[in-house]
Amino acid sequence: MEPIDALTEIAELLERERSSRYKSAAFRKAAAAIEGLSPAELVDAAALRRRPGIGDRTFAVISEALDGRVPAYLADLRERRGVVVPGHLRAALRGDLHCHSDWSDGLTPIGEMVDAARALGHEYLALTDHSPRLRVARGLSPERLRAQLDEIPAFTDEGFTLLSGIEVDILDDGELDQDDDLLERLDIVVASAHSKLRMPRAAMTRRLVAAASHPRVDVLGHVTGRLVEGARGTRPPSEFDAAAVFAACASHGVAVEINSRPERQDPPDELVAVALEAGCLFSIDSDAHAPGQLSLIDYGAERAERLGVPPERIVTAWSLEALREWTGRERT
Ligand SMILES: [Zn+2]
Ligand SMILES: [Zn+2]
Repeated sequence: MEPIDALTEIAELLERERSSRYKSAAFRKAAAAIEGLSPAELVDAAALRRRPGIGDRTFAVISEALDGRVPAYLADLRERRGVVVPGHLRAALRGDLHCHSDWSDGLTPIGEMVDAARALGHEYLALTDHSPRLRVARGLSPERLRAQLDEIPAFTDEGFTLLSGIEVDILDDGELDQDDDLLERLDIVVASAHSKLRMPRAAMTRRLVAAASHPRVDVLGHVTGRLVEGARGTRPPSEFDAAAVFAACASHGVAVEINSRPERQDPPDELVAVALEAGCLFSIDSDAHAPGQLSLIDYGAERAERLGVPPERIVTAWSLEALREWTGRERT
């Protein structure tokens, strides 16, 4: 196999299993370091080993690939990846409305997210970097978001559309952490709570109902905030009146996100049932922070299918045209 393909696939698999970002970054850096090298340059082992961006492990991967073998490190990762049998629903998905780039806390530039989305066969992807208050995630100030908006159109062509967007923080009182006129300009607004997740039930209900009722919100992100596994440990779901929150989503045409990250699995099964009953739309999103995580929608699709969510109520199974019609809906 081509060394660059081996390095890239390793990076993607490390991202998908949510290893330390430094690990996958090393493989991405090595792939960039050998991009454009001639075959003669690649086989010059001594020169290659000295090249910036190539370390012992990445050098070994390149050598094994050049020898015509599947590098052992890659073989291990492939085996660990396991098999998610993609059901009908996964095949019906056409895009993703929630991901991050290195403008906020994502691992790579926008272009690498777009390349990975295209490789998955997506027709569209919304870039939804964080909002200003989320400082730990380098949330975008209004100025930086405006600058990002200038870059977005260049990633769209006949076969693929990069939608502009934001994952805007829901503040304690239910207000959104970005200027309304700027939210107005975006294709997709995902609203999520990232702080004070243990608020009393009544206050949390008011907060989420306010967010779901905001005229610029399209998707309510990882609604309970729970963490069920993984490096960050676990966290119980926020407490709120789910029937009231999902009723607000349904009446404002806001989609409830089915967050595909295995550590989130948000909303929990029983709340997906409440949202279904309330008549909500859904958006199956990856919340990818690296290219290799866009494929995590496999898990969200598997859950949605198991829970009986009909494809016609999943906005990410819609054509771009239908999606645009929905985002352009009459807002109240
Ligand atoms: Zn989030
Ligand atoms: Zn996110």
